[in-house]
Amino acid sequence: MLKELYARSTPAISFELFPPKTSAGETSLYDHVEKLMAFKPGFITCTYGAGGSTQAKTLEIIGEVKKRFQVPVASHLTLVGSTADDLRSYLTTSQQQGVDMIVALRGDPPAGSTEFQVTPGGFSYANELVNLIHTEFPSLGVLVAGYPEKHREAPDMKSDLDNLKRKVDAGADAIVTQLFYNNDDFFRFRDQCESIGISVPIVPGLLPVTSLPQIQRITSLCDASLPKGFVERLSQKDDPAWHFEVGVEKAVEQVKGLVQAGIPGLHFYVLNRSDATARILESLSL
Ligand code: FAD
Repeated sequence: MLKELYARSTPAISFELFPPKTSAGETSLYDHVEKLMAFKPGFITCTYGAGGSTQAKTLEIIGEVKKRFQVPVASHLTLVGSTADDLRSYLTTSQQQGVDMIVALRGDPPAGSTEFQVTPGGFSYANELVNLIHTEFPSLGVLVAGYPEKHREAPDMKSDLDNLKRKVDAGADAIVTQLFYNNDDFFRFRDQCESIGISVPIVPGLLPVTSLPQIQRITSLCDASLPKGFVERLSQKDDPAWHFEVGVEKAVEQVKGLVQAGIPGLHFYVLNRSDATARILESLSL
């Protein structure tokens, strides 16, 4: 399914949600997804245990999204706290509940720690999870994470790319990138991937900025850089409405450049809201 989706003449759109912590958050989430459905997404994903969110909610959220909006869905899944059998059990339940794809990830070290802890009986790296899905759950599509500015723990870009290739060779269907704000970082990454024989679709992950403090916190956690001129423009006013407008303007410019360069899809980290992403997609008329 991913292969066909990314072979289309216009970029396939996907949206990434996270499990809300309250029932009000959940109601609001479905209202925003309803608005985003106007842009005919190829699929919608939900994170797993990221940023302190619970793991149990992921399947519930994507199950409900699929039921309400009849759109293909992907569950993110990490190795954190799971044995290989726990992962098998999650994948079995996912399949039974109609999940179409898995975003296969290692997960981050727990807060306060710099090293990822391997669960006894579990896996060390995402490529092992990709292998498990590919061999035992072949009907599930598999997406993996790529890092245009290098994963923070990798000693250098070359080893990070070799590790990415390991995930692709294990059966990943497509790569979704970490957020970035400089398209040249993405284009360089795409060229580097091609040069080592990675031929699956590479989809830019985009987080439209709507708040300067929020994006400074997020980028510090994932080591993505914010261009100096962009931060200066955002800093001109300490006003959320200004941050939103400047963030949308920047994202429109970024997305236009990416579409012109022939990317196969656009993956939006929508943070459970539709406003900014809708403005960006309306301006593109894809
Ligand atoms: P891996 O691919 O396993 O890589 C981790 C590190 O190990 C890298 O430095 C890599 O170079 C290195 N490495 C990989 N394989 C080997 C090997 N065989 N030998 C030596 N070194 C190796 N986190 C969540 O907790 N929940 C989510 O839902 C979530 N969703 C995400 C979605 C996207 C699109 C992205 C980009 C990230 C997401 N993350 C999520 C964050 C992710 O879990 C972290 O970035 C994590 O630190 C690395 O995950 P990975 O799957 O890229 O790991």
